[in-house]
Amino acid sequence: MAEIVGGKPVKPAPFAYAKARSVEHAIELTGRDSEARILAGGQSLIATLNMRLSRPTLLVDINDVPGLDGIAIKDGMVEIGALVRHAQAGRSETIARHAPLVAAAIPQIGHPAIRNRGTIGGSIAFADPAAELPACLLALGGEVVIAGARAERTVAADDFFTGLFETALGAGDVLKAIRVPSASAAARFGFAELARRHGDYALVGLAATARTDGGGLAGVRLAYFGVGATPLRARKAEAALARNALDDAVAALADDLDPPDDVQETGAVKRHLAGVLLRRVAKQLMEGRP
Ligand code: FAD
Repeated sequence: MAEIVGGKPVKPAPFAYAKARSVEHAIELTGRDSEARILAGGQSLIATLNMRLSRPTLLVDINDVPGLDGIAIKDGMVEIGALVRHAQAGRSETIARHAPLVAAAIPQIGHPAIRNRGTIGGSIAFADPAAELPACLLALGGEVVIAGARAERTVAADDFFTGLFETALGAGDVLKAIRVPSASAAARFGFAELARRHGDYALVGLAATARTDGGGLAGVRLAYFGVGATPLRARKAEAALARNALDDAVAALADDLDPPDDVQETGAVKRHLAGVLLRRVAKQLMEGRP
């Protein structure tokens, strides 16, 4: 029987456990049970189990699967393996140099203990709408490499986040890696978030990319987090910023974003904060990197 504290269960419902030896083995194991879930860093999954928000009957542990913890440059892209821990990514010179937006976001994720265990793949697969890395992936126009029972496929970030905690991952799929374009000399990045305490999930956050074009910006991508069910592009604001019209860009957020009230703040306050962040991030984009 579950231990009850303050009326809430703090132990998970019973589940079976299996350790995968390879990506193929993980796919085979998850294919055996429709209620199976992949276990990576466990920083989100175990909490949902303990609160009985989810009741998988089988956990497939991928922590010993070889080949998922690499960081490499391939064909002009930075490939980050699913099992790369946040802390490992934060120490990586390759990420600092070639994916500085990811490097800027990592210190904002939780606390050191969470960053030591939590994985890049877990953050993207879990797809918390207030999480930093899904928004960075979207701002960078990155992609997700997925191994499934039939074949391997690549899904663009714009198509990956489909709903609240929902993604293009299907049953039995294993997220193998993410890829983001390696930063060019003309690339510009911006990142800012507002949270009640450092390490908390953001009230509102913004990850942005652009490239310098003459005296202005082109290819602007603004990906907000904490303002909806998924990380969201602010497309009218992007177009205004590319015209160097910052006030218009802030005003355009009224069309781009409709944040719902949540336990942290009202939607109206969130929309105001989105404008505050846009002014900060626009300055970063013009001046260089965050
Ligand atoms: P797990 O918890 O192991 O898995 C999460 C989900 O993803 C599960 O559904 C699992 O089945 C699935 N999954 C994991 N890996 C794969 C894969 N390779 N293929 C397919 N499915 C997979 N995150 C933030 O972004 N910002 C924060 O500020 C933040 N604060 C936190 C504060 C606390 C107190 C805690 C406990 C967590 C916080 N997190 C935060 C979450 C943290 O970043 C987690 O590491 C991350 O969300 C999930 O990564 P994980 O490796 O722990 O995944």
